Amino acid sequence: MSNPFRHDLSTLAPAARAWLARKPAHYIDGAWQASSSTLPVIDPSSGEQVGEIAAGGANEVDAAVAAANAALKSPEWAAIGPFARERLIMRLVQLIEENAAVLAQIETVDNGMPSWFAFGPTIMGSADVYRYYAGWPTKIAGETMVVEGPPGAGDFRGFTQRSPVGVVGAIVPWNVPFLMAAWKLAPALAAGCTVVLKPAEDTSLSALMLASLVEQAGFPKGVFNVVTGRGPEAGEALVNHPGVAKISFTGSTATGRRIGEIAGRNLKKHTLELGGKSPVLLFDDARLDDAVPGAASSIFMNAGQICVAGSRLYVQGGIYDEVVERLHAHAASLSLGAGLSPDVFMGPLVSAAQKARVTGFLERAGAAAGCEVLRGAPVDEDGGYFVSPAIVTGAAHDAEISRSEVFGPVLSVYRFDDEDEALALANDSDYGLAATIWSGDISRVMRVSEALECGKVLVNNGGFPYPGLPEGGRKSSGHGKDLGREALDSCLQTKTVLIRM
Ligand code: NAD
Repeated sequence: MSNPFRHDLSTLAPAARAWLARKPAHYIDGAWQASSSTLPVIDPSSGEQVGEIAAGGANEVDAAVAAANAALKSPEWAAIGPFARERLIMRLVQLIEENAAVLAQIETVDNGMPSWFAFGPTIMGSADVYRYYAGWPTKIAGETMVVEGPPGAGDFRGFTQRSPVGVVGAIVPWNVPFLMAAWKLAPALAAGCTVVLKPAEDTSLSALMLASLVEQAGFPKGVFNVVTGRGPEAGEALVNHPGVAKISFTGSTATGRRIGEIAGRNLKKHTLELGGKSPVLLFDDARLDDAVPGAASSIFMNAGQICVAGSRLYVQGGIYDEVVERLHAHAASLSLGAGLSPDVFMGPLVSAAQKARVTGFLERAGAAAGCEVLRGAPVDEDGGYFVSPAIVTGAAHDAEISRSEVFGPVLSVYRFDDEDEALALANDSDYGLAATIWSGDISRVMRVSEALECGKVLVNNGGFPYPGLPEGGRKSSGHGKDLGREALDSCLQTKTVLIRM
C-alpha cells in the first residue's frame, strides 16, 4: 500500500510530469533562457528533489528589465486599445481554466498544498482575479474640470491623463504562489504595464507555467518575464534596478523592511504586503457551530501558511472551555497527508526550514510556565515536512508565540471578559493585516470592526479574497493594496494638463 504521507508522482498527469522534468530556464523577452546555475525543486511530502529551476541574478534581471522596457514602448503593446488588452487577459483566463488540473498538481507537488486548495482557491481563484481585471482597461479614465484662473488671466480647462506606471517588479512568496502572482500581474497588465516576476525559490514552477500560458494567450514578447532565483540575488537586483518603476512585494515583514529601504532610497514606488498575526474575536452570542470550524479552518487551511490566518483566538470567558474542547476535537479530526490525494485537508509545510521554524516556536511555547500545547491529528514525523495542528493555551500575551508570526498550523487561544478587553488584546500587536469577529450582535460588530487596527475585517465567516475587494495591512503588515481598484491605481500614474482656451 502506498504511504499516505508521500506523493505518488506516478499519478501525475503527463503534462505535470513534463514540467517537473524541464530544463532549468528563465523566461525573458518571449524566450526560454537556459541556465547552468540551478536550485533544486523539493517535494515537501518526501523532502526529495523532483526537479530543478534556474538560479538567476543581476545579469538575468538586467536582460528581463530591458525586455520589459522595450515592450512597454512597443507598438504591439503600447499602441493597442483597451478592448485588445481585455481580450488578451480573457484569453489567459481561458487557458488557466483549461490547464487548471495540471497547474493544481504542479502547485501541490511544489508547495505541498492539498489538491482541493490548489485547484479551487488557488488556480480557479487566480482565473477570477484575471477575469476581474480584464474588465478594467476599458474603464481607465482621467477627469476634466473647469478651472478658475488668476483674475484676468483668461478661461482655463484642466484635465488628467492616466498612463501605465512603467515596468513593475513583482516579488512573491511561496505560500500560494500562483495566486500571489495573479494579484501582481493582473492589475499591471490591465493598466498597460509590463512585468518582471521573481517567484519564491521554493515554489517557482507555477510561475514558469504561467509564462507559457501568457505566451500562448498572444501577449507580445517582453510584456511578462520570469527570473527565478534566490531573494538576496535575483530579488534584490530587481529592487535596485533603475529600469523598474514600481516594486510590488508580498512576503515577510523583515524582507519588506529591506525592500522599502532600498526602494525609498531610489524613490521607487512600492507596495508591501507583509506578515500578519491576525486576531479572531469569539463572543458568547456567536453561533458556535459556525464559529469553531470557521476559526479552525482560518488557521489550519494550507497548514497555516496564509497571510491572513487567524492565529490568535480570543474567547469570551463563559464559553472558553467548551470552545477549546471543540477546537481540539476538530484539530484531531482533520485528515492530514500528501495533498495529491483528494481526501487530504492539510498537507506538509513548504520546506525543512519552515518545519524547523514552526516546531521551534512550539517547543519554546511548550516549555513556558502555564502554557499547554494540544496536538491534533498525528503525522508521519520522519517523512517530509509535516507538522500536526497545534492549539496553544495559557500563553502570556507578551510571549513569543503571542507576538510572532508562526506561519504554520498553530492557534493560540486566550480568554477575555468583555468587549473592551477583547479589542485591547486584539489591537495589542505589531501587525495589522486582518481580523475576524464572531458575534450575533450587529451593533457590537459595527463598533468592534471600526475599532480594529487592521486592513480587513471578516464577520461571521472564515474569509476568502474577493478580487474586487482590496487586501493589505497596516502597521508592520505593510502598506498599499493588492486586488480591487486600488491595486490598479497603484499601476497607473496621473498627469495634469492645464489649458488656456
Ligand atoms: P520572504 O520575505 O522570505 O520571501 C518573499 C519573497 O521575497 C521571495 O520571492 C524571496 O525570494 C524574496 N526575497 C527574499 N529576500 C529578498 C531581498 N533581500 N530582496 C528582494 N527579494 C527578496 O517571505 P516568505 O517566507 O517567502 O513568505 C511568507 C511571508 O509572506 C509571511 O510573512 C506572510 O505573512 C507573507 N504574506 C503576506 C501576504 C499579504 O497579502 N500581506 C500574502 C501572502 C504572504
